[in-house]
Amino acid sequence: MSTKSNSTDSRRQFMRKAGLTAAVATIAGPAAALPFADTDSPLQNDDQRKVGFAIVGLGKYAQEQMMPAFKESKHAKITALVSGSPEKMQQLAKQYSVDAKSCYSYQNFDSIKDNPAVDVVYIVLPPGLHAEYVVRAAQAGKHVLTEKPMATSVADCQRMIDACRKAGKQLMVAYRAQYEPFNLDAIARIKNGELGKLRYVTSDHGRQVEPSKDKADEWRVVKKLAGGGSLMDIGIYSLNAARYLTGEEPVEVMAMESTDRTDPRFKEVEDQIHFTLRFPSGVLATCTSAYSIETVKRLRAFGEKAYLDLDPATDYYKHNMTIGTAEGEMKPAVKEGNQFAAELDHMAECVLQNKTPKTPGEEGLRDIKLIMALYESAKKGKPVKV
Ligand code: NAD
Repeated sequence: MSTKSNSTDSRRQFMRKAGLTAAVATIAGPAAALPFADTDSPLQNDDQRKVGFAIVGLGKYAQEQMMPAFKESKHAKITALVSGSPEKMQQLAKQYSVDAKSCYSYQNFDSIKDNPAVDVVYIVLPPGLHAEYVVRAAQAGKHVLTEKPMATSVADCQRMIDACRKAGKQLMVAYRAQYEPFNLDAIARIKNGELGKLRYVTSDHGRQVEPSKDKADEWRVVKKLAGGGSLMDIGIYSLNAARYLTGEEPVEVMAMESTDRTDPRFKEVEDQIHFTLRFPSGVLATCTSAYSIETVKRLRAFGEKAYLDLDPATDYYKHNMTIGTAEGEMKPAVKEGNQFAAELDHMAECVLQNKTPKTPGEEGLRDIKLIMALYESAKKGKPVKV
Protein backbone atom coordinates (compact mmCIF):
# COMPACT_ATOMS: atom_id res chain seq x y z
CA MET A 1 0.00 0.00 0.00
CA SER A 2 1.35 3.42 -0.84
CA THR A 3 2.10 6.05 1.80
CA LYS A 4 -0.61 8.20 0.25
CA SER A 5 -3.36 5.61 0.70
CA ASN A 6 -2.09 4.84 4.23
CA SER A 7 -2.41 8.46 5.19
CA THR A 8 -5.81 8.71 3.50
CA ASP A 9 -6.98 5.67 5.50
CA SER A 10 -5.71 7.04 8.79
CA ARG A 11 -7.34 10.40 8.01
CA ARG A 12 -10.63 8.62 7.27
CA GLN A 13 -10.29 6.56 10.44
CA PHE A 14 -9.53 9.65 12.50
CA MET A 15 -12.42 11.57 10.98
CA ARG A 16 -14.80 8.66 11.50
CA LYS A 17 -13.73 8.40 15.15
CA ALA A 18 -14.04 12.16 15.56
CA GLY A 19 -17.49 12.04 13.99
CA LEU A 20 -16.29 14.22 11.13
CA THR A 21 -17.37 13.64 7.57
CA ALA A 22 -15.60 16.32 5.60
CA ALA A 23 -12.70 18.73 5.89
CA VAL A 24 -15.12 21.25 7.30
CA ALA A 25 -17.47 18.92 9.06
CA THR A 26 -20.84 19.32 10.64
CA ILE A 27 -21.48 18.75 14.32
CA ALA A 28 -19.84 15.68 15.74
CA GLY A 29 -21.10 13.17 18.28
CA PRO A 30 -19.87 14.51 21.62
CA ALA A 31 -21.36 17.98 21.50
CA ALA A 32 -24.62 16.77 20.05
CA ALA A 33 -25.02 14.49 23.07
CA LEU A 34 -24.18 17.18 25.59
CA PRO A 35 -27.06 18.88 27.34
CA PHE A 36 -26.55 22.64 27.33
CA ALA A 37 -25.94 23.11 31.03
CA ASP A 38 -24.38 19.66 31.40
CA THR A 39 -27.13 18.36 33.64
CA ASP A 40 -27.64 14.60 33.67
CA SER A 41 -31.40 14.83 33.91
CA PRO A 42 -33.11 17.76 32.25
CA LEU A 43 -35.09 19.60 34.89
CA GLN A 44 -38.82 18.95 34.96
CA ASN A 45 -39.94 22.30 36.27
CA ASP A 46 -43.64 21.73 35.71
CA ASP A 47 -44.83 24.56 37.90
CA GLN A 48 -42.59 26.88 35.85
CA ARG A 49 -41.33 28.48 39.04
CA LYS A 50 -38.32 30.62 38.24
CA VAL A 51 -35.60 30.91 40.85
CA GLY A 52 -35.18 34.52 42.08
CA PHE A 53 -31.71 36.10 41.92
CA ALA A 54 -30.45 39.24 43.70
CA ILE A 55 -27.62 40.90 41.76
CA VAL A 56 -24.98 42.39 44.08
CA GLY A 57 -22.77 44.93 42.27
CA LEU A 58 -24.18 46.54 39.14
CA GLY A 59 -20.91 47.03 37.26
CA LYS A 60 -19.79 46.33 33.72
CA TYR A 61 -19.99 42.53 33.70
CA ALA A 62 -23.31 42.46 35.54
CA GLN A 63 -24.91 45.05 33.26
CA GLU A 64 -23.41 44.03 29.92
CA GLN A 65 -23.37 40.22 30.14
CA MET A 66 -25.19 38.65 33.05
CA MET A 67 -28.34 40.74 33.49
CA PRO A 68 -29.29 40.51 29.78
CA ALA A 69 -28.70 36.71 29.93
CA PHE A 70 -31.61 36.26 32.36
CA LYS A 71 -33.91 36.87 29.37
CA GLU A 72 -32.55 33.68 27.79
CA SER A 73 -32.56 31.67 30.98
CA LYS A 74 -35.25 29.01 31.48
CA HIS A 75 -35.23 28.86 35.28
CA ALA A 76 -33.72 32.11 36.60
CA LYS A 77 -35.10 35.63 36.99
CA ILE A 78 -33.86 38.86 38.57
CA THR A 79 -35.90 39.70 41.69
CA ALA A 80 -33.61 42.07 43.62
CA LEU A 81 -30.71 44.50 43.16
CA VAL A 82 -27.95 45.61 45.53
CA SER A 83 -25.87 48.70 44.77
CA GLY A 84 -24.14 51.72 46.26
CA SER A 85 -25.62 53.93 43.56
CA PRO A 86 -29.38 54.57 44.04
CA GLU A 87 -29.77 56.31 40.64
CA LYS A 88 -28.19 53.48 38.68
CA MET A 89 -30.19 50.93 40.66
CA GLN A 90 -33.45 52.78 40.06
CA GLN A 91 -32.84 52.84 36.33
CA LEU A 92 -31.94 49.12 36.20
CA ALA A 93 -34.87 48.24 38.46
CA LYS A 94 -37.15 49.88 35.91
CA GLN A 95 -35.45 48.13 32.99
CA TYR A 96 -35.68 44.68 34.63
CA SER A 97 -39.04 45.20 36.40
CA VAL A 98 -37.60 44.83 39.90
CA ASP A 99 -39.80 46.05 42.75
CA ALA A 100 -38.45 49.16 44.56
CA LYS A 101 -38.89 47.23 47.84
CA SER A 102 -36.35 44.69 46.52
CA CYS A 103 -33.60 47.26 45.95
CA TYR A 104 -30.94 47.30 48.67
CA SER A 105 -27.85 49.29 49.58
CA TYR A 106 -24.69 47.56 50.83
CA GLN A 107 -25.67 48.77 54.32
CA ASN A 108 -29.19 47.30 54.47
CA PHE A 109 -28.32 44.25 52.31
CA ASP A 110 -28.72 41.86 55.29
CA SER A 111 -32.47 42.56 55.41
CA ILE A 112 -32.69 40.55 52.17
CA LYS A 113 -33.25 37.62 54.54
CA ASP A 114 -36.88 38.78 54.81
CA ASN A 115 -37.41 38.79 51.04
CA PRO A 116 -38.98 35.49 49.93
CA ALA A 117 -38.61 36.46 46.25
CA VAL A 118 -34.83 36.01 46.56
CA ASP A 119 -33.49 32.44 46.45
CA VAL A 120 -29.96 33.15 45.20
CA VAL A 121 -27.60 36.04 45.85
CA TYR A 122 -25.21 36.57 42.91
CA ILE A 123 -22.01 38.43 43.87
CA VAL A 124 -20.51 40.47 41.00
CA LEU A 125 -18.24 42.67 43.11
CA PRO A 126 -14.43 42.96 42.94
CA PRO A 127 -12.87 39.71 44.28
CA GLY A 128 -11.61 41.31 47.52
CA LEU A 129 -15.27 41.82 48.52
CA HIS A 130 -16.60 38.36 47.55
CA ALA A 131 -15.98 36.71 50.94
CA GLU A 132 -17.80 39.36 52.97
CA TYR A 133 -20.90 39.31 50.75
CA VAL A 134 -21.01 35.53 50.33
CA VAL A 135 -20.90 35.09 54.12
CA ARG A 136 -23.57 37.76 54.64
CA ALA A 137 -25.78 36.18 51.96
CA ALA A 138 -25.43 32.72 53.55
CA GLN A 139 -26.25 34.21 56.96
CA ALA A 140 -29.36 35.73 55.38
CA GLY A 141 -30.37 32.16 54.43
CA LYS A 142 -29.76 32.49 50.68
CA HIS A 143 -27.99 30.26 48.14
CA VAL A 144 -24.96 31.96 46.60
CA LEU A 145 -23.43 32.30 43.14
CA THR A 146 -20.14 34.20 43.21
CA GLU A 147 -17.93 35.48 40.42
CA LYS A 148 -14.41 34.24 39.78
CA PRO A 149 -11.81 34.40 41.23
CA MET A 150 -13.69 33.06 44.26
CA ALA A 151 -11.73 35.22 46.74
CA THR A 152 -8.30 36.70 47.33
CA SER A 153 -7.09 34.15 49.91
CA VAL A 154 -7.43 30.47 50.71
CA ALA A 155 -8.75 31.36 54.18
CA ASP A 156 -11.54 33.50 52.67
CA CYS A 157 -12.55 30.67 50.29
CA GLN A 158 -12.79 28.30 53.24
CA ARG A 159 -14.82 30.85 55.23
CA MET A 160 -17.27 31.13 52.31
CA ILE A 161 -17.61 27.34 52.02
CA ASP A 162 -18.11 26.97 55.77
CA ALA A 163 -20.74 29.73 55.93
CA CYS A 164 -22.82 28.20 53.12
CA ARG A 165 -22.47 24.71 54.59
CA LYS A 166 -23.57 25.97 58.02
CA ALA A 167 -26.59 27.69 56.45
CA GLY A 168 -27.41 24.56 54.42
CA LYS A 169 -27.21 26.57 51.19
CA GLN A 170 -25.58 25.92 47.80
CA LEU A 171 -22.43 27.79 46.82
CA MET A 172 -21.41 27.96 43.16
CA VAL A 173 -18.47 29.76 41.52
CA ALA A 174 -19.32 31.33 38.16
CA TYR A 175 -16.84 29.50 35.93
CA ARG A 176 -18.77 30.26 32.74
CA ALA A 177 -16.36 28.30 30.48
CA GLN A 178 -17.52 25.11 32.18
CA TYR A 179 -21.05 25.80 30.87
CA GLU A 180 -19.95 26.84 27.37
CA PRO A 181 -20.61 24.42 24.45
CA PHE A 182 -17.17 24.54 22.73
CA ASN A 183 -15.34 23.89 25.99
CA LEU A 184 -17.78 21.10 26.90
CA ASP A 185 -17.29 19.61 23.44
CA ALA A 186 -13.50 19.74 23.84
CA ILE A 187 -13.73 17.99 27.23
CA ALA A 188 -15.93 15.27 25.69
CA ARG A 189 -13.56 14.69 22.75
CA ILE A 190 -10.55 14.37 25.04
CA LYS A 191 -12.48 11.97 27.31
CA ASN A 192 -13.57 9.92 24.28
CA GLY A 193 -9.94 9.49 23.28
CA GLU A 194 -10.33 11.31 19.97
CA LEU A 195 -6.91 12.92 20.35
CA GLY A 196 -5.31 9.68 21.52
CA LYS A 197 -3.59 9.80 24.88
CA LEU A 198 -3.43 13.41 26.10
CA ARG A 199 0.19 14.58 26.50
CA TYR A 200 0.08 18.30 27.13
CA VAL A 201 -2.08 21.40 27.22
CA THR A 202 -1.26 25.03 26.53
CA SER A 203 -3.42 28.02 27.31
CA ASP A 204 -2.87 31.77 27.00
CA HIS A 205 -4.99 34.58 28.40
CA GLY A 206 -3.95 38.18 28.00
CA ARG A 207 -5.15 41.72 27.37
CA GLN A 208 -4.24 45.32 28.05
CA VAL A 209 -5.47 46.38 31.48
CA GLU A 210 -6.50 50.04 31.14
CA PRO A 211 -7.48 51.65 34.46
CA SER A 212 -7.16 55.14 32.96
CA LYS A 213 -9.71 54.34 30.22
CA ASP A 214 -12.04 51.72 31.75
CA LYS A 215 -13.59 52.16 35.19
CA ALA A 216 -13.96 48.38 35.48
CA ASP A 217 -10.15 48.10 35.33
CA GLU A 218 -9.58 50.46 38.26
CA TRP A 219 -9.93 47.76 40.96
CA ARG A 220 -7.94 45.29 38.80
CA VAL A 221 -4.68 47.11 39.62
CA VAL A 222 -5.42 47.45 43.36
CA LYS A 223 -4.09 44.41 45.23
CA LYS A 224 -6.57 44.57 48.12
CA LEU A 225 -9.53 44.39 45.72
CA ALA A 226 -8.10 42.14 42.99
CA GLY A 227 -5.92 39.84 45.11
CA GLY A 228 -3.23 39.93 42.42
CA GLY A 229 -2.78 40.84 38.78
CA SER A 230 -3.34 39.01 35.51
CA LEU A 231 -3.08 35.55 37.07
CA MET A 232 -6.02 36.11 39.46
CA ASP A 233 -8.21 37.80 36.85
CA ILE A 234 -7.54 35.99 33.54
CA GLY A 235 -4.71 33.50 34.11
CA ILE A 236 -7.35 31.66 36.15
CA TYR A 237 -9.05 30.74 32.82
CA SER A 238 -5.82 29.04 31.66
CA LEU A 239 -5.44 27.29 35.01
CA ASN A 240 -9.06 26.16 35.21
CA ALA A 241 -8.97 24.98 31.57
CA ALA A 242 -5.86 22.88 32.21
CA ARG A 243 -7.75 21.20 35.06
CA TYR A 244 -11.02 20.58 33.22
CA LEU A 245 -9.35 19.42 30.00
CA THR A 246 -7.15 16.89 31.80
CA GLY A 247 -9.76 15.99 34.43
CA GLU A 248 -6.83 15.82 36.86
CA GLU A 249 -5.41 17.86 39.72
CA PRO A 250 -1.80 19.11 39.45
CA VAL A 251 0.81 17.70 41.84
CA GLU A 252 3.55 20.25 41.14
CA VAL A 253 3.57 23.81 39.80
CA MET A 254 6.22 26.25 38.64
CA ALA A 255 5.89 29.92 37.67
CA MET A 256 7.95 32.81 36.37
CA GLU A 257 6.82 36.45 36.55
CA SER A 258 7.81 39.46 34.51
CA THR A 259 6.48 42.88 35.53
CA ASP A 260 7.71 46.36 34.69
CA ARG A 261 7.27 48.03 38.06
CA THR A 262 7.89 51.47 36.53
CA ASP A 263 4.60 51.06 34.60
CA PRO A 264 2.04 52.89 36.79
CA ARG A 265 -0.46 50.03 36.22
CA PHE A 266 1.82 47.55 37.95
CA LYS A 267 2.68 49.28 41.23
CA GLU A 268 0.70 46.68 43.21
CA VAL A 269 -0.14 43.76 40.90
CA GLU A 270 1.78 41.58 38.45
CA ASP A 271 1.73 41.82 34.67
CA GLN A 272 2.92 38.51 33.14
CA ILE A 273 3.01 35.08 34.69
CA HIS A 274 4.06 31.98 32.75
CA PHE A 275 3.42 28.73 34.54
CA THR A 276 3.69 24.98 34.22
CA LEU A 277 1.53 22.36 35.92
CA ARG A 278 2.48 18.70 36.29
CA PHE A 279 -0.44 16.27 36.44
CA PRO A 280 -0.29 12.74 37.93
CA SER A 281 -0.71 11.03 34.52
CA GLY A 282 2.41 12.78 33.23
CA VAL A 283 0.47 15.44 31.31
CA LEU A 284 2.07 18.88 31.52
CA ALA A 285 0.24 22.18 31.04
CA THR A 286 2.05 25.34 30.02
CA CYS A 287 0.01 28.47 30.57
CA THR A 288 0.44 32.22 30.37
CA SER A 289 -1.38 35.30 31.53
CA ALA A 290 -0.55 38.93 30.82
CA TYR A 291 -1.98 42.41 31.30
CA SER A 292 0.22 44.17 28.71
CA ILE A 293 -0.56 42.46 25.40
CA GLU A 294 -3.22 42.40 22.68
CA THR A 295 -6.16 40.20 23.71
CA VAL A 296 -5.68 36.43 23.58
CA LYS A 297 -8.00 33.74 25.02
CA ARG A 298 -6.92 30.40 23.63
CA LEU A 299 -6.11 26.84 24.53
CA ARG A 300 -4.70 23.78 22.80
CA ALA A 301 -4.72 20.15 23.93
CA PHE A 302 -2.11 17.86 22.35
CA GLY A 303 -2.75 14.14 22.15
CA GLU A 304 -0.68 11.35 20.64
CA LYS A 305 -2.86 11.37 17.49
CA ALA A 306 -4.27 14.86 17.18
CA TYR A 307 -4.46 18.30 18.70
CA LEU A 308 -7.54 20.29 19.55
CA ASP A 309 -7.39 24.04 19.41
CA LEU A 310 -9.92 26.55 20.74
CA ASP A 311 -9.17 30.11 19.65
CA PRO A 312 -10.94 32.00 21.00
CA ALA A 313 -11.63 29.54 23.82
CA THR A 314 -13.15 31.73 26.50
CA ASP A 315 -14.70 34.62 24.61
CA TYR A 316 -18.22 35.78 25.48
CA TYR A 317 -19.87 35.01 22.13
CA LYS A 318 -17.33 33.69 19.64
CA HIS A 319 -15.50 30.38 19.73
CA ASN A 320 -13.58 28.46 17.13
CA MET A 321 -12.47 24.83 17.24
CA THR A 322 -9.81 23.25 15.07
CA ILE A 323 -8.71 19.63 15.19
CA GLY A 324 -5.40 18.84 13.57
CA THR A 325 -3.58 15.67 12.65
CA ALA A 326 -0.56 14.95 10.50
CA GLU A 327 -3.06 14.82 7.62
CA GLY A 328 -4.40 18.33 8.05
CA GLU A 329 -6.88 20.41 9.96
CA MET A 330 -10.66 20.36 10.23
CA LYS A 331 -13.19 22.55 11.95
CA PRO A 332 -16.08 20.78 13.66
CA ALA A 333 -19.20 22.94 13.47
CA VAL A 334 -19.99 23.22 17.16
CA LYS A 335 -23.02 25.40 17.81
CA GLU A 336 -22.59 28.58 19.83
CA GLY A 337 -24.79 28.79 22.94
CA ASN A 338 -25.46 31.34 25.66
CA GLN A 339 -22.99 30.26 28.35
CA PHE A 340 -24.25 32.94 30.75
CA ALA A 341 -27.83 31.67 30.61
CA ALA A 342 -26.59 28.06 30.89
CA GLU A 343 -24.63 28.98 34.02
CA LEU A 344 -27.66 30.71 35.56
CA ASP A 345 -29.90 27.77 34.70
CA HIS A 346 -27.45 25.35 36.29
CA MET A 347 -27.49 27.35 39.54
CA ALA A 348 -31.30 27.51 39.42
CA GLU A 349 -31.53 23.75 38.80
CA CYS A 350 -29.25 23.08 41.76
CA VAL A 351 -31.58 25.12 43.96
CA LEU A 352 -34.75 23.50 42.61
CA GLN A 353 -33.32 19.97 42.79
CA ASN A 354 -31.23 20.49 45.93
CA LYS A 355 -28.05 19.28 44.25
CA THR A 356 -24.43 20.38 44.46
CA PRO A 357 -23.33 22.62 41.58
CA LYS A 358 -20.83 21.34 39.03
CA THR A 359 -18.52 24.24 40.02
CA PRO A 360 -19.00 24.45 43.80
CA GLY A 361 -16.99 26.47 46.30
CA GLU A 362 -14.43 23.67 46.50
CA GLU A 363 -13.66 24.18 42.78
CA GLY A 364 -12.94 27.87 43.39
CA LEU A 365 -10.83 27.02 46.45
CA ARG A 366 -8.69 24.59 44.40
CA ASP A 367 -7.79 27.33 41.92
CA ILE A 368 -6.98 29.83 44.67
CA LYS A 369 -4.72 27.27 46.40
CA LEU A 370 -2.93 26.68 43.08
CA ILE A 371 -2.66 30.42 42.37
CA MET A 372 -1.05 30.92 45.79
CA ALA A 373 1.39 28.08 45.03
CA LEU A 374 2.18 29.72 41.67
CA TYR A 375 2.90 33.07 43.35
CA GLU A 376 5.12 31.23 45.85
CA SER A 377 6.97 29.46 43.03
CA ALA A 378 7.49 32.73 41.12
CA LYS A 379 8.83 34.38 44.28
CA LYS A 380 11.17 31.53 45.23
CA GLY A 381 12.22 30.72 41.66
CA LYS A 382 11.55 27.02 42.35
CA PRO A 383 8.82 24.45 41.62
CA VAL A 384 6.27 23.94 44.42
CA LYS A 385 4.63 20.60 45.25
CA VAL A 386 0.90 20.88 45.81
P1 NAD B 1 -16.86 46.59 37.69
O1 NAD B 1 -15.89 47.50 38.34
O2 NAD B 1 -17.50 47.05 36.43
O3 NAD B 1 -18.02 46.16 38.69
C1 NAD B 1 -17.81 46.07 40.08
C2 NAD B 1 -18.99 46.67 40.81
O4 NAD B 1 -18.71 46.60 42.20
C3 NAD B 1 -19.24 48.14 40.46
O5 NAD B 1 -20.62 48.35 40.27
C4 NAD B 1 -18.77 48.88 41.70
O6 NAD B 1 -19.47 50.09 41.93
C5 NAD B 1 -19.06 47.87 42.79
N1 NAD B 1 -18.31 48.09 44.03
C6 NAD B 1 -18.84 48.05 45.24
N2 NAD B 1 -17.91 48.31 46.18
C7 NAD B 1 -16.78 48.55 45.53
C8 NAD B 1 -15.47 48.89 45.95
N3 NAD B 1 -15.16 49.03 47.26
N4 NAD B 1 -14.53 49.06 45.02
C9 NAD B 1 -14.80 48.90 43.71
N5 NAD B 1 -16.03 48.56 43.25
C10 NAD B 1 -17.01 48.40 44.15
O7 NAD B 1 -16.07 45.22 37.44
P2 NAD B 1 -16.53 43.95 36.60
O8 NAD B 1 -15.62 43.80 35.45
O9 NAD B 1 -17.98 44.01 36.36
O10 NAD B 1 -16.17 42.75 37.61
C11 NAD B 1 -17.00 42.39 38.69
C12 NAD B 1 -16.77 40.92 39.06
O11 NAD B 1 -17.10 40.11 37.93
C13 NAD B 1 -15.35 40.55 39.41
O12 NAD B 1 -15.35 39.55 40.38
C14 NAD B 1 -14.77 40.01 38.11
O13 NAD B 1 -13.70 39.10 38.30
C15 NAD B 1 -15.99 39.30 37.57
N6 NAD B 1 -15.97 39.19 36.10
C16 NAD B 1 -16.19 37.98 35.57
C17 NAD B 1 -16.18 37.81 34.21
C18 NAD B 1 -16.46 36.47 33.62
O14 NAD B 1 -16.30 36.31 32.42
N7 NAD B 1 -16.89 35.51 34.41
C19 NAD B 1 -15.91 38.90 33.38
C20 NAD B 1 -15.70 40.16 33.95
C21 NAD B 1 -15.73 40.29 35.33
